[in-house]
Amino acid sequence: MEQQTKMIKPGKVYLVGAGPGDPGLITIRGKYLLERAEVLVYDYLASPKLLKHVPKNATMIYAGKKGGTKHTHTQEEINQMLVDWALAGKTVVRLKGGDPFIFGRGGEELEELAKAGISFEVVPGVTSATAAATYAGIPITHRAYTASVSFITGHEEPGKENSNVDWSKLATGAGTLVIYMGIKNLPIIVDNLIDNGRDPKTPVAVVRWASTPEQQSVVGTLETIVARVEEEAIKPPALIIVGEVVALRDTLDWFEKRPLFGKRIVVTRTREQASELVASLEGFGAECLEYSTIQVEALEAYDILDEELERLNEYHWVLFSSINAVQYFFERLYAKKMDARHLKGPMVAAVGKATADFLLRYGIVADLIPAVYTAEGLAQSLLDFGVEGRNILIPRAVKAREFLPETLRGAGAQVVVAPVYRNVPPPTGKEDLRAELVNGKVDMISFTSSSTVTNFLSMIDAANQEELTTLLSGIKIAAIGPVTAKTVTDNGLTVDVIPEAFTIPTMVAAIVAYYENGPSKK
Ligand code: SAH
Repeated sequence: MEQQTKMIKPGKVYLVGAGPGDPGLITIRGKYLLERAEVLVYDYLASPKLLKHVPKNATMIYAGKKGGTKHTHTQEEINQMLVDWALAGKTVVRLKGGDPFIFGRGGEELEELAKAGISFEVVPGVTSATAAATYAGIPITHRAYTASVSFITGHEEPGKENSNVDWSKLATGAGTLVIYMGIKNLPIIVDNLIDNGRDPKTPVAVVRWASTPEQQSVVGTLETIVARVEEEAIKPPALIIVGEVVALRDTLDWFEKRPLFGKRIVVTRTREQASELVASLEGFGAECLEYSTIQVEALEAYDILDEELERLNEYHWVLFSSINAVQYFFERLYAKKMDARHLKGPMVAAVGKATADFLLRYGIVADLIPAVYTAEGLAQSLLDFGVEGRNILIPRAVKAREFLPETLRGAGAQVVVAPVYRNVPPPTGKEDLRAELVNGKVDMISFTSSSTVTNFLSMIDAANQEELTTLLSGIKIAAIGPVTAKTVTDNGLTVDVIPEAFTIPTMVAAIVAYYENGPSKK
């Protein structure tokens, strides 16, 4: 009889540095491994935003490790867990904040794996010391100031008899000192440095939550930093940077100086379209809270459009009033085994630049883009052109304003409205959004269409006007254009920012100007 041996794939543990907090600071190798993890064991300091890279069916284990509080798992339990999962044949990613070998106990975890004969690999990470320095505008070395730097743990009480940290040598032994885990012991650390010969006037920076939207920096000297940190109530996790290079922050601070730094802005768009707005707001330093208040769906049937596609050559104009209209129009066109060549007869109009740019992806150069990017602007441009007796097709959402077709019909055009997609409210996120509003952690809400306003309001589901006003008190509102703004004011709210042109870039510019110059500049 043939013997069947069951092969168990050998497990492996990847010790991966998550970087300091900004999820963009993980290495490409680290992200690659996250995407392939079967088991993930992660720490408090690893950005939660990195978890989205991990496959949905992976086992996720939070290992805890918040300085000063009770660890969720002891180090022994974590070590054992890694061994057990690897023996079970799993691909295990052990994700640690910063770099795994810098005050991260990565070495200890690997020693246990080596003892158990388990294979492993280590992926370095951006350690919080270099991140705090770069994001605080402090070159950790500089030819004019220092040629050496020391990474030190401040966790051990200085002066402790069997301490591994020799402050008498370190105080003047390196130009720049970066101290991890030192906030609690800051007063003793500072005394030790001064007692051991470091100039009390040496500049010091303390940087909390480096590289994240919550980053906070406090600057002083060895003499003043303790009082400054108390004043600002700085808590861990934070790093202490000691050395002349700290003075360069006056000139080189860039991260906290970005115009929208520290602002939390709710972005209400369809999932597909949020990225441009989010990317550019984040580029100015804002933290975006993305809620898809609208989701767009294809229709079950396209009766009207299908019929009109057969006689596209009889049309004088096809009008696109949104990116979605373009996308779903073409999807249907392709489904009918047709393509851009069928649009060679009619002229094509786009409501604005974004829609025109999107049309280009389908090989169509818009013949007309109105000066003002709204349905009103589009209607006016067409009226100027002359539409009497013209056949006009408008592919659009099932529910939309009747302004454009009605105006054109009023001017003597034959208009066919062909629904190509519909807006549906998204299923999740309601509770999170309400909690953000209740906790008062939102600075601004941005609306990019009337339907984002109505869907946002139905999402937060206020019992009455009073509750709505209370929930949104102190929160600024940006609307992409006058129609969206009117929907906001119709609901008893006030609009603070409306851009001059109704595009995402101008909207972002208006938001930046609002925070830089104050409310007068709309
Ligand atoms: N392996 C990590 C360090 C772990 S020790 C690394 O390479 O960065 C934990 C200490 O790191 C914290 O007490 C704090 O001093 C520092 N730290 C980690 N992330 C930080 C951050 N985003 N901002 C400031 N300090 C941070």
